[in-house]
Amino acid sequence: MVLNFLGSGSGFADNHTSAYFTTNDKELVIIDCPVSAFQKLKRMKLGDYEQIYVFVTHTHGDHVGGLGLFAQYVFFVLKKKLTIVAPSSDVFEDILTIMKIEGNDSEWYNLEHVLNLAEKPWLKGCIPTVHSPQLERKCFGYKFFANGETIIYTGDTATLKHFLERMEDVKELYVDTSVYYGMIHLKLEDALPKFLELNQSGVEVFLMHLDDANAAEKMVANYPKINVVR
Ligand SMILES: [Zn+2]
Ligand SMILES: [Zn+2]
Repeated sequence: MVLNFLGSGSGFADNHTSAYFTTNDKELVIIDCPVSAFQKLKRMKLGDYEQIYVFVTHTHGDHVGGLGLFAQYVFFVLKKKLTIVAPSSDVFEDILTIMKIEGNDSEWYNLEHVLNLAEKPWLKGCIPTVHSPQLERKCFGYKFFANGETIIYTGDTATLKHFLERMEDVKELYVDTSVYYGMIHLKLEDALPKFLELNQSGVEVFLMHLDDANAAEKMVANYPKINVVR
């Protein structure tokens, strides 16, 4: 597993799903920033990094709840500017609103559209997906080159469709999966055959954003290339 996780639970869990990796240029790349991730991030040695990014998948509270606080922490404690990355113009505007409501001065952080980071060797693009109807066309996953491997991180998603079209070179798939709740998330029993197919083509699967990690672990106990992120 090339990503480090700050949490792997879904909306009502204690630790919401968020992950990070570091680059050769002393950059810290974080995916989503719930409050539970902020609590862990502030205990890390963040001063060692030249640049800290937070890539936002979508604006549900369990993904951006700690963003405003973290931006303030980076500015006032680390004396740096956090770079927040929006996957689309719509999400860019929504993040701007969230930051304003939380009392952040626009001088305290950078907000970038993902297209402005296209030259980064570790960024392979963002992938639109379908999640909740209230955030229609505002939910995305990302493809990264992290620690020598090409990976896809779905963010919250109800479908694998757009990710399956972008699987070239992918070695690890980090995917939103629920045991009980389907609808706006992938249900494990429905997605399992597809995960096994991906295993056959050399992709290791990591289940995240779980509603019941113990139950998920039981369901995939016989499949060594399907892992439950704890
Ligand atoms: Zn979520
Ligand atoms: Zn969500």
